[in-house]
Amino acid sequence: NKATAFGIRELLEQARRLVLSEARQHSVDILIQKGPEVRVAGVRVQIAQVVVNLMRNAIEAIGDQGGSPRRVVVSTALVDGELQIDVEDTGPGIAEGLEVFTQFETTKPGGMGLGLSISRSLVEANGGRIWCTSTSTGAKFSFTLPLAA
Ligand code: ADP
Ligand code: MG
Repeated sequence: NKATAFGIRELLEQARRLVLSEARQHSVDILIQKGPEVRVAGVRVQIAQVVVNLMRNAIEAIGDQGGSPRRVVVSTALVDGELQIDVEDTGPGIAEGLEVFTQFETTKPGGMGLGLSISRSLVEANGGRIWCTSTSTGAKFSFTLPLAA
């Protein structure tokens, strides 16, 4: 598990392929928007795990309810010399008062409440930050990564 420099676009596409069958089961589209073609620094497999966790949560959030569009949009942008990755969904948004990054916090029957707590540890171990916001159309999870030197 060594830190390397890698292209973020390829990683996002790979994560999308990993969750695609789950997305299809819930009739959810996953769109990856074109962003800056930059390389980031980090342990690639750890960042992939974070992106998969966020995509799966987004699919599950939409899966619990009807309505359209049923869409997860992943976008990237350069912010203050870092790369910011946003994963935005059209689900019901984050339940009021829920500490989503705290371990064992879950609203899902059979959920473990570990994904986001692990994701926060992994992002921070790679020099980034992670946070979430409710939007007018659902939830948005964002995290940062340092650019490769
Ligand atoms: P789990 O998925 O096992 O419940 P997580 O740590 O991944 O554990 O997520 C914790 C909780 O945060 C979820 O149970 C859910 O209530 C909330 N959450 C996570 N992602 C989303 C999302 N995209 N939209 C709404 N709520 C979310
Ligand atoms: Mg989860």
